[in-house]
Amino acid sequence: MNNLEQKDKKYIWHPFTQMREYKSFVIEKGKRMWLYDIYGNKYLDGISSLWVNVHGHRKKEIDNAINKQLAKIAHSTLLGIANVPSVELAEKLIKIVPGKLCKVFYSEDGAEAVEIAIKMAYQYWQNKGEKQRTKFLAVKNAYHGDTIGAVSVGGMSLFHSKYKPLLFKTYFATSPYCYRCPNCKSFTNIVGRIPYKVNCNWDCIKKIEKLVKKHKKEICAMIIEPLVQAAAGIIVMPQGYIKKIEQICKENKILLIADEVAVGFGRTGKMFACEYENIKPDLMAVGKGITGGYLPLAVTFATNEIYNAFLGKLEEQKTFYHGHSYTGNPLACASAIANLNIFKKEKTLEKLQPKIKVLSKELEKFKNLPWVGDIRQCGFMAGIELVKNKNTKEPFKITDKISVKICLEARKHRLLIRPLGDVIVIIPPLAIEIPQLRYMLKVIYQAVIKICGKQ
Ligand code: PMP
Repeated sequence: MNNLEQKDKKYIWHPFTQMREYKSFVIEKGKRMWLYDIYGNKYLDGISSLWVNVHGHRKKEIDNAINKQLAKIAHSTLLGIANVPSVELAEKLIKIVPGKLCKVFYSEDGAEAVEIAIKMAYQYWQNKGEKQRTKFLAVKNAYHGDTIGAVSVGGMSLFHSKYKPLLFKTYFATSPYCYRCPNCKSFTNIVGRIPYKVNCNWDCIKKIEKLVKKHKKEICAMIIEPLVQAAAGIIVMPQGYIKKIEQICKENKILLIADEVAVGFGRTGKMFACEYENIKPDLMAVGKGITGGYLPLAVTFATNEIYNAFLGKLEEQKTFYHGHSYTGNPLACASAIANLNIFKKEKTLEKLQPKIKVLSKELEKFKNLPWVGDIRQCGFMAGIELVKNKNTKEPFKITDKISVKICLEARKHRLLIRPLGDVIVIIPPLAIEIPQLRYMLKVIYQAVIKICGKQ
């Protein structure tokens, strides 16, 4: 271990990492799709630096935008005053978000954007006088971030069950996890259709309807990750699912919160996943790709209907008392403006479409491997679920550490990926080139055979 690695081990407590097993790995720089470690080895950034990077690293236009802003001011508060890039960005964002969203509330990370949406939904009903509406409706297997509010509406027991005594009560609907649906035995692998159609009784939706019927007077909002339950292992929702959810919410006066933190900014092939089924949420959370993967910035969007419920005389106490030290940071906003300009100038979404098709084709090759249970793809997000027994869908044991081993094997071949359970996740930057994408899939394919073959 070199000096830096020793200090890393000595001082840093890494997020979502079992530190006992952690082997220091230090990145020094990046260029386009590549990350370079302190020894000069380069790695393809196959997880977009945790699903944030869009146009690659050291993108000239974003570098320049940040430098230009830095020459003016690095930070000034948004509490009661504004700064130039925060205003300019807000206007740009409102022009592209779905439905009637027309107000921008800034924060720094996805979890905070969700936290804000939760507090806004709750206070909206408080301000409107429906004080009994204090509960949320969420979906099992959902992941909305790691702060206490976001964990309360999260449905992944691995990440969430430890904190149960600290959480507020939430009603949970069944996850639209077709591969492991208890009601549908005929589900077959459907690589590449975005989103795919199902021929079933929609039992998962019926359960939501039941829950809503019983509790609708106390529910203030429902939160969903439109189209993809990402952190649960790229669980792709069938076509029509989110539209049905929207309908249920509308019919029962329940606000709809769309968490587009993972799927927003092009990951599904459209700017926002809500566009696929023309979903018009009341609140929407975004983060990750908003700055092209440069700086921490997130946004909670609200409709005028929500915003107006917070207006009043100071003594009426309708104000939204929320905000952070770095809310609306000018450097972060400047990088987000540059990011959006590149989307337009380089036609990022148009150029993405053939790459999505290549990804589908490459994924097809995995279908017949004996350890591949399910392959899920939504646009430029994909997950390969590995199982011990393809017929029974029996998972590997946690102690087999299958996916961790596969990712370490991939690293030997200059590819950086990070699994979710036993799901191999493929979320490269949107600007990845087709040969690089093919290389990525080839490395994963060989690593799966090498590691699973030994089991
Ligand atoms: N919502 C979703 C759907 C996510 O996937 C994530 C993170 N993976 C978050 C919220 C939390 O975002 P952050 O890590 O930026 O707090």
